[in-house]
Amino acid sequence: MLVELKVNEGWSLECFVCGRAFEEDVTSFLCPSCGGLLQLIKTSHLDVDALFPRNEGRLTLWRYRRALPFDEGVEPVTLGEGGTGLVRSVHIGKGLGMNELFIKYEGQNPTGSFKDRGMTVAVTRARQSGAKVLICASTGNTSASLAAYSARAGLRSAVVVPHGKVASGKLAQAVAHGSEVLIVKGDFDFALSMTMEFAASDRSFYLMNSLNPYRIEGQKTVAFEIFEQLGNLVPDYIVLPVGNAGNISAIWKGFKELKAWGIADRTPKMIGVQAAGASPIAEAYAKGSNVISRWEKPSTIATAIRIGNPVSWMKALAAIRESRGMAMAVTDEEILVAKKMLASKEGLLVEAASAAPIAALNHLAPQLEAGALVVCIATGHGLKDQTDFQPSLLDAPIYQDKEQVLAALKRISAFDIEITR
Ligand SMILES: [Zn+2]
Repeated sequence: MLVELKVNEGWSLECFVCGRAFEEDVTSFLCPSCGGLLQLIKTSHLDVDALFPRNEGRLTLWRYRRALPFDEGVEPVTLGEGGTGLVRSVHIGKGLGMNELFIKYEGQNPTGSFKDRGMTVAVTRARQSGAKVLICASTGNTSASLAAYSARAGLRSAVVVPHGKVASGKLAQAVAHGSEVLIVKGDFDFALSMTMEFAASDRSFYLMNSLNPYRIEGQKTVAFEIFEQLGNLVPDYIVLPVGNAGNISAIWKGFKELKAWGIADRTPKMIGVQAAGASPIAEAYAKGSNVISRWEKPSTIATAIRIGNPVSWMKALAAIRESRGMAMAVTDEEILVAKKMLASKEGLLVEAASAAPIAALNHLAPQLEAGALVVCIATGHGLKDQTDFQPSLLDAPIYQDKEQVLAALKRISAFDIEITR
């Protein structure tokens, strides 16, 4: 049976909306007073040496464990997540007149997406609480990640996914890791509201969607990593895809903490990018509104951000407002062009949603100050999602022997190719 654990010493669990504080985890992860999302706040100070310890070997996010809500002795459920590459753009930035463009390649995480950062922390917490079955609704990446970390922890998992709208590679991951996969008729928003309702009514299930504030704690570490990888610098802009809006909230929290602890002297502007067919946050921003209107029929090829009613919308709008950033939308066509550019010009294969920030740069670049340091977050690996891939190789000729192959190679080369026979 699930035990509501005491919140760790040096931490406060609070309602994001009304500020009510809780001494124990609230496993519905919603404030019983006002229904608001919760957040974990570190009440003690952290200095740079404590956050960035020296000589700890490979860079994983548990390097930052002193900034995570656990006691020292807790054994993490880990697969070596974090430590992903921060890759300087060699081509796209130049074309846009941007010299300082970087891509944080989160597809390098163990299950191929940024979700692993939140999952290692939240599954570690769930195991402490005695949970037996971990549950989430998902557009794909969360289910793959939850399935893997549950397997690692020796816990069961169940994932609820919308029919026909999840990349087959992501479903295959969830199945391979032994998760119970429930495919439902309806979209992600329907799947999530049902899952939240169910988890609140049956205490043997532990909710793992990004309203779980322990997920946010893990995801915030990408801010610490970017800061370190840039040589203790804060970028001017973070540009990232926004679906359910947990990640923009998390990364903003990470940078705010760096500043609050006196480790960094400023914070970046947060730019949230949505797909035009699923952009309630960009719509609210454009209207100057403090609330979003739910989109009933979200539609985009970028399935990871095909969400009409983002659960963390309030935190996302706050991140944009506080950072003096913005939200914007890009079309599916723009996303596909950007995805192709990342793959063919930078060597980075990403899923469609992860190309949205690069698509947005076409609009943003003329407005940015000269020399602006921009980091785009590429949230998921392209190997998981090939639904938008045009398999032109299927129509390619099949060479019958070595002579034909050599002839073809010679045609595509400016030089004669010498191959030892
Ligand atoms: Zn509240």
